[in-house]
Amino acid sequence: MNIEKLMQGVSAGDRRALAQAITLVESSRADHRVMATALLDGLRPLQRQALRIGLSGTPGVGKSTFIEAFGCMLTAAGLRVAVLAVDPSSTRSGGSILGDKTRMDLLSRDPNAFIRPSPSQTHLGGVARRTREAVGLCEGAGFDIVLIETVGVGQSETVVAQISDLFVLLLAPAGGDELQGVKRGIMEIADLVLINKADGDLVAPATRACADYAGALRLMRKREQDPDGFPKAMLVSALTQVGLAAAWDEMTALSDWRRKVGHFAHHRAVQARYWFEQEVRQGLLEGLQRSEVRSAMAQAGCAVERGDLTPESAAQGILKTLLDRGPAPD
Ligand code: GDP
Repeated sequence: MNIEKLMQGVSAGDRRALAQAITLVESSRADHRVMATALLDGLRPLQRQALRIGLSGTPGVGKSTFIEAFGCMLTAAGLRVAVLAVDPSSTRSGGSILGDKTRMDLLSRDPNAFIRPSPSQTHLGGVARRTREAVGLCEGAGFDIVLIETVGVGQSETVVAQISDLFVLLLAPAGGDELQGVKRGIMEIADLVLINKADGDLVAPATRACADYAGALRLMRKREQDPDGFPKAMLVSALTQVGLAAAWDEMTALSDWRRKVGHFAHHRAVQARYWFEQEVRQGLLEGLQRSEVRSAMAQAGCAVERGDLTPESAAQGILKTLLDRGPAPD
């Protein structure tokens, strides 16, 4: 594979080159990792930056319908939109390329949009890492908006929040006690809570739900430096597209504000540091899987059981082997 050519294609905004580049960063082959790093490093000087929006919601709340309508609204306004998904494939039905493309039929045919399903790895840490690199590639390809979608299960929304500039939680009126079942943690990281399906018979329950969520958000601590009124709950209908433009206005207002006060760049800097530390941890964990380390572990484990070695000195021996031999070939 010619990295120079691929880089040219990506930086020219070619979607096929971008898809190829993402396949490269998703690969765990050692030579592919080297090329992927070179590619990402090569794109960095372009200093292109997209607005990264994390979007979470349980299956059925209308994420695909929302992304389709919202994405088309943005491309109609002249913006280029990339959609990435972060989910361990085991938690996701229809996560195939075909599945995602049929989910967002109009958007997937839009020349100013790019849709990429979740990489097929069952380990969330692995998926998140690759998705973060895919975000970097989309930025290098000149996309203005990167939507990072996740189903609100497990830890995936926390991971997505670590990749995004803004975090949007999509909910639907459930009838009854709305706040039940929504994890506090996810409410705490949301900048905007959108109550979807505010149309037809669902307008009244959606309005009640919106008031409940607005109340709950008020009780949570406002993020330092964010303007009054955030985090905010709003009504939308992905189906009728009511409220989508207003939601976009709020997203841009919040990100413009954060840019102005310097919080946007600071947030990215903190994220970059977090991911650096994660990479180191991940590298060490992968090193533990190497066959010579595994057999050394087994031997040392037996020596510890017999009482020939203390757990501490055995562990130090293993860590030395791990650190002396460099990173694991994947
Ligand atoms: P996802 O699983 O979160 O991606 O949800 P989908 O976008 O597939 O939507 C689940 C169901 O909710 C589908 O039957 C949609 O047609 C419906 N739906 C999505 N958005 C709306 C909306 O704004 N209003 C109404 N009434 N139904 C919606």
